[in-house]
Amino acid sequence: MKTLYVMLTVLALTACTTPPSPEARIDLGVQWVEHSAEYQALSAQVYADAREDLPRLLADPNWSALPGQTDAANKPPAIILDVDETVVSNARYQETLLHTPYSSFSHFDWMRNNPAVPVRGATAMIEAARRAGVEVFFLTNRACERFEGIDGDCPYEQVTIEDLREVGIETVAEKLLMAWEQPDWSKEKLIRREYIGRTHRVIALFGDDYGDFVQCTRAKPLTPCTEPATRASRHAALDTYADYWGNGWYVLPNPMHGSWTTVR
Ligand SMILES: [Mg+2]
Repeated sequence: MKTLYVMLTVLALTACTTPPSPEARIDLGVQWVEHSAEYQALSAQVYADAREDLPRLLADPNWSALPGQTDAANKPPAIILDVDETVVSNARYQETLLHTPYSSFSHFDWMRNNPAVPVRGATAMIEAARRAGVEVFFLTNRACERFEGIDGDCPYEQVTIEDLREVGIETVAEKLLMAWEQPDWSKEKLIRREYIGRTHRVIALFGDDYGDFVQCTRAKPLTPCTEPATRASRHAALDTYADYWGNGWYVLPNPMHGSWTTVR
């Protein structure tokens, strides 16, 4: 009896002190996005805050959400949104990764075969921005690449346009900037933000990943970055860009994946 008691005590203590496996943590994040009202409320909150701010950001000709953009006063206004976990939720696809490894083709294949799931508030915010005369660009790291057995050099572009249509947003290829659509358009988004900034005053950025706002956020630096990002360098950027968070920069929640998982 005493032995059984000791064994049960050891088991109970083990259950309390063993950290959850990485798989369990990933699953919790996916479950939260897929099922919690909290996730929906937070997304709605981010986009409601942005809608309230847009008239002010639009009215100030000297305001830009691109740090260093100082020549934009006479350019037409624009906003830039990421796609995945910003406008379209991937939680159901992420669930498949609990059983099979990620590949860009499996993501492409899932998206073309399943209706896109909207992120709450995104479509209404985009409609409000367009009514106010703001151009809307989508800047995604979905990549232009060939897939065996699929026509075209960039089949993911048309699938992404269709995903956006499925959540109620019309756009065209010229407003959708894919990774590798041009030779220097790497997954470091700075170069594509600057490309849009050459013709537009960018009044707001929307994304779920630090790289949607800040340059050089990955452990493996991509041109023009030269240093690997660390947790410390990413946290330092919170202060560097303190004036932007919630004021032209709007971050959507994503506990499932992102560049944050690459750094130490
Ligand atoms: Mg994203």
